[in-house]
Parts: sequence; C-alpha cells; structure tokens
Amino acid sequence: MATVQALGNLEGAVDQGTAELLNIFRTTGPLTRADVSEHTGWARMTVNSRLDRLVEAGLLEADGLTSASRGRPAAQFRFNPARGVLLVADIGASGMRLALCDLAGEVHRRVDAPVDIAAGPDVVLGEVERRFDQMLGDQALAGSVWGVGISLPGPVEFATGTVVEPPIMTGWNGTRVPDRLGAHFDVAVFVENDVNAMALGEQRACYPQVRDLLFLKTGTGIGAGIIANGSLLRGAQGTAGDIGHTWADAEDAHARRPLCRCGKQGCVESYASGWAIVRDLATAGQPIETVDQAVERVIFGDPLATSLLRDAGRVVGSSLAHMVSVLNPSVVVVGGQLAAAGEHFLGGLRERVYARSLPLATRDLQITRSKLDGDAGVIGLAHGLADAVLSPANLTEPGRELARRA
Ligand SMILES: [Zn+2]
Repeated sequence: MATVQALGNLEGAVDQGTAELLNIFRTTGPLTRADVSEHTGWARMTVNSRLDRLVEAGLLEADGLTSASRGRPAAQFRFNPARGVLLVADIGASGMRLALCDLAGEVHRRVDAPVDIAAGPDVVLGEVERRFDQMLGDQALAGSVWGVGISLPGPVEFATGTVVEPPIMTGWNGTRVPDRLGAHFDVAVFVENDVNAMALGEQRACYPQVRDLLFLKTGTGIGAGIIANGSLLRGAQGTAGDIGHTWADAEDAHARRPLCRCGKQGCVESYASGWAIVRDLATAGQPIETVDQAVERVIFGDPLATSLLRDAGRVVGSSLAHMVSVLNPSVVVVGGQLAAAGEHFLGGLRERVYARSLPLATRDLQITRSKLDGDAGVIGLAHGLADAVLSPANLTEPGRELARRA
C-alpha cells in the first residue's frame, strides 16, 4: 500500500493517544468527556486536549446532551464519518461497481460499469480513474478524498498492492496498482482480492460481533474469503481461501476429470462454477452465453439446470466441509450468482457441510445468503481503507505530508 497521506486540515501528525481516542469513537457510540476518562484512565486535562484536537479537525462532532436520568446532562461527542470521502471500486472479470463512501463505509453514490479485465491494467485502471473523476464532479468534494480502494478478481500481494500471477487477468502480472492510482489521486491506495473485500464487508456491516466468518463467492468462479479471529486471513502469497482450485470430491461420470481454466484437471471450479454449468448446459444441447442465463433457467424451473446447480452445491459443499472443520467459523455467508438461484445451490451445499464436517464445528454453524449482495465488495473496501487511513500508525507518522488531491 502506498504511504497514507491525506489528513484533511490536521496540522501535522497527532500523538498516539489522540489517534487511539479517534479509534475508540469509531468503534463505540457517542461518549461524554467523563465516559472517555473512565474508558481510558486519562487525566481530565489530557482527555480535554485530545478531544478538542479531534473536534477542531472535524473528526469528532457534538452529539447533544446525555439524558437527565443519568444525572446532570453532559455534552456527548461522536465520530464524524462525513469528514472525508473514500473512493472504492470492486472490479470483476466483466463488470465493476464503483462507490463513493464516507469514513464509516456507508455508500453515498454508486455506479455500475462494464469492464473487460483482460484488456489489461492501463485500460481498466484508466477507466476507473475516469469514472471516479465523474463521480466526484465538483472540486470541493475532490479535495476531501482520503483514499482509494480497489478489489481485483485475482491474488494480490497485500503489502505492496501487487497483482501476482492471476489466472484470468491477462497482462496484470506484477502490476503495482498503487503506483498508478496513487499518481492520479495523490492519496492512499488500498488493494485487495475481491472475495476478501466481500468477506470484510459482510462481517463489518452485518456480523460485527462474529470473529470467525467465511464468505463463499459463487459466480463465474468459486472462491472464499476468511475472517479468522476478527481479521482477514490472506496467507503468505494472498491466495488463502482459494477453494475453487482445490481437488473436487465429485462422484464422477466423466472418464477424464474436466480441464479447469487454471490449467489443472479436476478442480472444484471445473465441476461446480458458473462457467462449468454454462459448459454442461451447452454439452446437453442447451446453449447459453452467461451464468445469469443459467440462473434464469433454474428460476424458471428447468430440470437439467436445477439438477446441475444442486450437484454444484454438493461439490462445493464437500470442499467447504474441510474448511469448516479446519477453521471452525460461526457463520458461512454465501454470495454470488449461484447463491442468487435460491435454495437449490444452498441445499446441496448444506447437505455436504453438515454430513462431512466435524460435529462440534457445525453444532452452532449458520450457513446463510449474503445480505449485502453486490455491495459487499465496495463496503468491505471502504472499511479496510478507513482502518488504514485512520490507524494510529498512520495518524502519528512524524513528518507526514498533509497532501490533498491536487
Ligand atoms: Zn483450477
């Protein structure tokens, strides 16, 4: 990730305590000065000076008075998410969703646009820049951009925002996304794998109390994002959770295991992904173009499409059962087009997970559809980006340039 720079009109870095205080407000509701003293153990003078600094910077704002039932009414303060703007883009293989979010990850503007990921980084990131500029519109808003977040449908080395040997992203290998977008926007750039961003979005927005969650994306491809002990688990090369290219447990009618788009044979994707279902419908004499068309067939009750989708759920469920046994999540959230077809896919998936995972791992396990659907990625990016920009490590960095977007 590029150095995080933008900090509005704060004059220089803040001290560690002030940065910590901001993050206390980000994760709690409104607090009074006395609440802060109690929470931190700081002296009254210290509380006042740190709180005043954050109010002056516009990062905290007044939130009325406490009710009289709690004794003398006292002024309350809360985090002000409208203090800055985050630009995020969830980029898929053939489409992207761009959003303008506040510092709490709430979406204020959103735009969907077609994109061809195989056109390469110059074309795709150029289009992202153009769309972001359009979304910002006026310069007043542009001046309040605090960061840019991008998710991509391939492995990302998180520390540097570099794309690493992506199977479907022709021309992207080795691209350092922050170098390109940071030059245009002059702010922090946060790059994440698409499924990881979705996992983070779903957990932060819908399951904030859940510390262990799996997000399964079932679209053209199959992938999983892992939240373990409250944090994203990315792995050494950024490929953790790549369940789609694990060996499928398929009761196999094929004499040869099918070829996967990664070049191996017999992966989960080669049986159970959107592209595999499209292939199997075509082989059976029902040619269609897209995964959405396959899902439509299921919704209209086509028996072959329905049976393919249910079998796909079983194949994915068998691999998911291993992940559930190893990671012991409380919630598995299933998103993507195949989940949108309703219970057919989820039925097959649940059947295998409950039959094959360790009993203790499934005793209280919830397997459920995504609540955020198409917004999961952009919301997750906004949360990850806000965490980075507002982290004590960033806010206290000495000699930091207080740059804004030019
Ligand atoms: Zn594969």
